[in-house]
Amino acid sequence: MQVSQEATGAFRRRRLLIAIVVATLVLILTLALRFVVEKKHIEQQSQTFAKVAIQRFDRLFSPLDVAANNTLGLVGLPCEQVRFPLVEKLASLQTVRSIILVQHDNMYCSSIFGSTNISFSTTYPELAVNNQRMVLSTDEDLLKGSPVLLLWTPVEANNRAGILQVINIEMMSNYLLEPALPWVERAVFNVGTHSLEYGNPMIETALAAEDEVSYQNTSLRYPFSVTLFGPAPTRLALSTLPGQLPLALLLSLLSGYIVWLATANRMSLAWQISYGINAREFMVYCQPLINARSGECEGIELLLRWQSARQGWVSPDLFIPLAERNNLIAPLTRYVLKELVRQLPTLPQKADFHIAINVASSHFHHRQIMMDLKQYWWSANPVPQLIVELTERDALPEVDRRVVAQLRQAGVRLAIDDFGTGHSSLSYLKTLSPDVLKIDKLFTAAIGTDAINATVTDMVISLAQRLNMSLVAEGVETEEQAAYLREKGVDVLQGYLFARPMPLEAFPQWLVDHQPHGGG
Ligand code: C2E
Ligand code: CA
Ligand code: CA
Repeated sequence: MQVSQEATGAFRRRRLLIAIVVATLVLILTLALRFVVEKKHIEQQSQTFAKVAIQRFDRLFSPLDVAANNTLGLVGLPCEQVRFPLVEKLASLQTVRSIILVQHDNMYCSSIFGSTNISFSTTYPELAVNNQRMVLSTDEDLLKGSPVLLLWTPVEANNRAGILQVINIEMMSNYLLEPALPWVERAVFNVGTHSLEYGNPMIETALAAEDEVSYQNTSLRYPFSVTLFGPAPTRLALSTLPGQLPLALLLSLLSGYIVWLATANRMSLAWQISYGINAREFMVYCQPLINARSGECEGIELLLRWQSARQGWVSPDLFIPLAERNNLIAPLTRYVLKELVRQLPTLPQKADFHIAINVASSHFHHRQIMMDLKQYWWSANPVPQLIVELTERDALPEVDRRVVAQLRQAGVRLAIDDFGTGHSSLSYLKTLSPDVLKIDKLFTAAIGTDAINATVTDMVISLAQRLNMSLVAEGVETEEQAAYLREKGVDVLQGYLFARPMPLEAFPQWLVDHQPHGGG
């Protein structure tokens, strides 16, 4: 029982370990998955932000582009003639602060100031080129110091004549570059090396802070780009993990619990016993019963052995009680019976040869043992005599007397096993009136000592003799014990002194080798 509790404890610890490992894995995996998803989401948010900003800027620039091309026809006309159409255009373009006409490298007409005379290439050297250009600059005329975007549209292949639009970029950027926290902390509009940042009227080159990463997207239609700065997606995703913890913990606990429940069956020793029965992991061993007077082998006791694929050798003291508690003892006894019948032809075909099997008292319920013996044992027309050993530690008083009577009628002898160790009540000796008493090895071991058990041994022997029962002494290990028991009149001896339990297949050869008078 001690051993069985230890095994159950070890088994629980293993289940617990597996459940904890699974729960931890689920926790880690859930958090890792949330992290990856969150990181991807953050990256997507920044990309979408940049894409949308580019699209909106493009859409705002496109009418200006059209307007500039429509206005190109006015270049060269006298200022007083074109000023009114310019103001009219300006009114329809809300984002444009002023329009300036350039002819012969001279900014000669402004929608605000009318006729002017300022050198174009000196004022805006980077614009004086042959194609459409943009430049971020600071307004020097109207709202001094405020950021503006200059859009230069030259008259075909002429870098000294064209339309210069002064665009109110600050208003646009305040509307389009508003940060989207937490992933976009700063959004910047870039043209060439100049940048305009949301909430900062200064035109400067934008640089990422130490713990920031940047993401840039360039317009395909106009020469500008948008740069976003924000915390690294990894860092941001990591910072969301504490928030994910409750759900991940819940999942992890749940899966741990499920594993705990699921392994209860599959990993339990009881499950392994029934698996072992099907996988034929059990082996039937036998131990010779020696006639105390003649020294001849007059029978065998069948003992089960189990080599589990998972546990290795498991002691019967462990699996038999477990099997009893899990209703697996009857299947195990059937296993023994089937094996016995299979090997019956190799055993002595003599009516005074005894074959003892261990049967649990629960097997007596509803005449089950009778039905099993009928199916497996009697159907084989056996010659040897069967002995059913019932252990005294079992609930003997509950054994159905009628079944015992039927057994005896069918020629089966009844033995009480481990006599003297259980709740020794003499009443069941009367009701069951067994044919054989087996003295437990505990009392055999006490022979030659002055322990109380040695006295009990003598008492048990004389009790059995008075009740007229055959006596078997178990656990005989020394010549001294054998001599003592023989002298006291014990009928049968069993123990390592004569033979250790051996596979049933090995018994016929053992019998040949150990007949006291040279075989026969
Ligand atoms: P048991 O029926 O009292 O079996 C005798 C036990 O004593 C066996 O242990 C045997 O190996 C051991 N033994 C034999 N000679 C000696 C000896 O000289 N010295 C010592 N120290 N031990 C000796 P085993 O095979 O480990 O079985 C333990 C118990 O498991 C058995 O006790 C029996 O109660 C149970 N068992 C074994 N096989 C079966 C079975 O097929 N069915 C049932 N119901 N119980 C079984
Ligand atoms: Ca026994
Ligand atoms: Ca015993």
